[in-house]
Amino acid sequence: MSSLQAQISKILTWSCVDGPGNRIVLFLQGCNFNCITCHNPHTIGRCNDCGDCIADCPTDALMLEGGKIRFDPALCTHCDACLAACSINANPMVQTYSVHDILTLLGKHKDFVSGITVSGGEATMQLPFTKALFTEMGRDPALAHLTRFIDTNGYLGAAAWTTVLDVTDGVMLDIKAFDCDTHRQLTGRDNARVLDSARMLHTAGKLYELRYLMVPSQTDTAGEIESLMAFTQSLEGPVRVRLNAFRTHGVRGEAAAWPAMEREQVEAAARALAEKSTGPVILPALW
Ligand code: SF4
Ligand code: SF4
Repeated sequence: MSSLQAQISKILTWSCVDGPGNRIVLFLQGCNFNCITCHNPHTIGRCNDCGDCIADCPTDALMLEGGKIRFDPALCTHCDACLAACSINANPMVQTYSVHDILTLLGKHKDFVSGITVSGGEATMQLPFTKALFTEMGRDPALAHLTRFIDTNGYLGAAAWTTVLDVTDGVMLDIKAFDCDTHRQLTGRDNARVLDSARMLHTAGKLYELRYLMVPSQTDTAGEIESLMAFTQSLEGPVRVRLNAFRTHGVRGEAAAWPAMEREQVEAAARALAEKSTGPVILPALW
């Protein structure tokens, strides 16, 4: 049994929007993008134990012990004041879970879910844990029927993908923009590796779904939607595409003042895509 552990900001024991069927979802802490449209910006940073958030906790649920931040869940009222206090988008409430902990959780829920999705933050930032977890699931006769999915920003390099694909059933991958400058402005990173990952995963038969976030005046333009169409057509065989609509819930900074994406425009883009698409075009699960 692997002794690997992961820093996890949240676990859902039931979700129907994070891959096929009902799924347990692990939201890993830490991301290599810095998306200005992120709905959960407190999942981006890794805590450096500075202690700056302690004074903002109204219930004394946070403390420094041996130079490390410690969180007492029994005292927490989930007010999120500590998240607002952190200047590096970290979360002092993150918990450490071992592979064994998650296998135990899966054992309790195995009759009620279709599988597990590792999300984030960025799921691939703690890849050895994910690989060990998926491998152990496959070896356990009681859990081997559960599917194993990754929800990613696609920035992982091809060599690293190959280490985990044989134990992964499917990947949901976000493309934030096709224009490189727009992608860099929205995420802080280039999009070349994202597009390479999408191509490689599709060729390997592991790309379950491409996700595309429509942001008004940024990624809803005719040029971007045409690029999305052209990209899906360039992949051999059907590609499932999910359009998502920008909302300001949880968003910090300048994007919090941006308008929400109109439903009519998303539906019009979906119709245009469906005309030329080789696979299903899915509308947002949440508006
Ligand atoms: S969560 Fe942020 S403010 Fe709190 S100790 Fe960690 S880095 Fe410092
Ligand atoms: S969310 Fe919990 S730990 Fe954070 S400030 Fe509020 S009570 Fe304290």
